[in-house]
Amino acid sequence: MRITIFGTGYVGLVTGACFAEVGNHVVCVDVDGDKIARLNRGEVPIYEPGLEALVARNRAAGRLVFTTDAAEGVAHGRFQFIAVGTPPDEDGSADLRHVLAVAGTIAEHMEDFKVVVDKSTVPVGTADRVRETVAAGLAERGTQVPFAVVSNPEFLKEGAAVEDFMKPDRVILGTDDERSAELLRALYAPFNRNHDRLIVMDVRSAELTKYAANAMLATKISFMNELANIADRVGADIERVRIGIGSDPRIGYHFIYPGAGYGGSCFPKDVKALARTAYDVDYTPQLLQAVEDVNDRQKHYLFSRIREHFRGELAGRTFALWGLAFKPNTDDMREAASRRLMESLWEAGARVQAHDPKAMAETRRVYGERPELALVDSPEAALEGADALVILTEWNLFRSPDFETIRERLSAPVIFDGRNLYDPEILAGLGFHYYAVGRPLRA
Ligand code: NAD
Repeated sequence: MRITIFGTGYVGLVTGACFAEVGNHVVCVDVDGDKIARLNRGEVPIYEPGLEALVARNRAAGRLVFTTDAAEGVAHGRFQFIAVGTPPDEDGSADLRHVLAVAGTIAEHMEDFKVVVDKSTVPVGTADRVRETVAAGLAERGTQVPFAVVSNPEFLKEGAAVEDFMKPDRVILGTDDERSAELLRALYAPFNRNHDRLIVMDVRSAELTKYAANAMLATKISFMNELANIADRVGADIERVRIGIGSDPRIGYHFIYPGAGYGGSCFPKDVKALARTAYDVDYTPQLLQAVEDVNDRQKHYLFSRIREHFRGELAGRTFALWGLAFKPNTDDMREAASRRLMESLWEAGARVQAHDPKAMAETRRVYGERPELALVDSPEAALEGADALVILTEWNLFRSPDFETIRERLSAPVIFDGRNLYDPEILAGLGFHYYAVGRPLRA
């Protein structure tokens, strides 16, 4: 089948490469000329496990093409996927500028029936706006071409995006158009062989499903962080509590890890956008507001503990940071907990020596060269002469370090662990001051 994807970010590029991998012919369109030039040189601008090989293989086979030429893109595909960014607007609502720009572009160039598929995360009612935009564009051209608009929110996780796309838990299709549903059922058939994972529903419910999923996941994290803060104050260990509650199948062990607060491009903006939607229909989203507030406070957690430990004297100190990405297996730094911490440390006059297996180029892009930030080649190099180690991302590489080396290289044996990677008893036995989230300090 012939597919066009607008947007070659985490979602668009993975979607394009995976559709090409099963034999489709895919044209990916982006307005970012640099990105397209890099892709056409065989470079993959983001890190996602397995993606580079997938892109290379399908480019070489001629099934995956990258262009900035929107007219070429629109002419190519029966399916026109919209996978562009929907960043938060000033009031927290999703900014639909890019989505509607693509709708306008499709209308400008389309000559035959198109199924416009919205993969971007967008508020309820956006499919209507896309439909209106395409219709207005066609009317402006004085022409009539049939088209359908389908909501197909994406549920892939960064860090496992290829795997998630190839073996989805579910594919949500929001449409009341029988023909489009059948076309998309055929398109997704290669990813739907083990059992039927397609869930077809009305457009508004599909649009809301995406926000509901992310808000639920964010709620689980904020809930655990709230409990961790209570555990801290009553001398309980949140990790034992986690295991205790996870054993109830109604609760389960998934996604109930306390930590330094959620980040990334999705949870923060989607919780805000859903809350905005609620306010817009005169409903006060108390729970969503609390989820966001708890997360905001949690992103300050490690800094508070650091400040307390050093009695407010942070100026001139150096901190080793392990992990910059908002989670492991990605280079994405959007809303990462590391950013808030680094910025607080810098404001207090401290320096940071950081290592991340994949996100250092992105960190350099975000912060540029500055004396208060050294990006170093190994976790060990980050420790050299630092006053403490701070862990922000649970990369596998950091899970079982040589604690002797850590102690030798740091100027004092102090660890602030925002991901609860180690056993507090063992670390206390080794002479560390080990601060974890929601776990009593064993000295
Ligand atoms: P991204 O920022 O990585 O990529 C968006 C791309 O769209 C950029 O390359 C940008 O240049 C391009 N673009 C902007 N306007 C364009 C236009 N008019 N024509 C063509 N290209 C254009 O974004 P992302 O992380 O891939 O997210 C895309 C959407 O998918 C968002 O709505 C997001 O909420 C949603 N989503 C993201 C994830 C995720 O894990 N990143 C998961 C599920 C859903």
